[in-house]
Amino acid sequence: MNFKEYIRDVQDFPKQGIVFKDITPLLNNAEILEKTTDALLNLVKEQKIDKVVGMESRGFFFATLLATKLKAGFVPVRKKGKLPFNVLSKPYSLEYGEDALEIHTDAIKKGDKVLIHDDVLATGGTAKAVCELIEELGGEVVQCNFLIELDFLNGKDKIANYNVDSLLHY
Ligand code: IMP
Repeated sequence: MNFKEYIRDVQDFPKQGIVFKDITPLLNNAEILEKTTDALLNLVKEQKIDKVVGMESRGFFFATLLATKLKAGFVPVRKKGKLPFNVLSKPYSLEYGEDALEIHTDAIKKGDKVLIHDDVLATGGTAKAVCELIEELGGEVVQCNFLIELDFLNGKDKIANYNVDSLLHY
């Protein structure tokens, strides 16, 4: 299955010089959506996962689908100010900007085995901040799962202490 056929490159989005990987064509196709979910699931080695954490916003799609397949709960990590309850907050740097990521303080229980998922691993700043949030709440990050890894940005180096698996590499 050539999943890359369903990933669209958009030049200069969200700003000049960025080539954005748009996954909406892949989400749009029922057969490919299911096959992508199964392929991401195949990357998961640890079977006993308590929570799947997805990063706002494109991480939510497959994180939720993976959670149902793994019989795990889904936990959203969101940008500053979006989550309504008590939050733990972590500043982070992006390929294009700076922000803070937040998680509900009751979303992860001590000892929870956690899979994190995002659509794209770029510089690794987002994933690193999310791993730190989970660990500060007492969870164990068993794997970081990505649909796309931009190898040339070396994001893997920032999360070198974790198991990292990506379906597609560029
Ligand atoms: P990082 O923190 O630099 O690894 O950036 C990863 C975050 O930025 C992820 O949450 C992605 O959704 C988003 N991102 C970075 N580059 C792209 C892209 O080319 N397409 C879609 N999302 C991207």
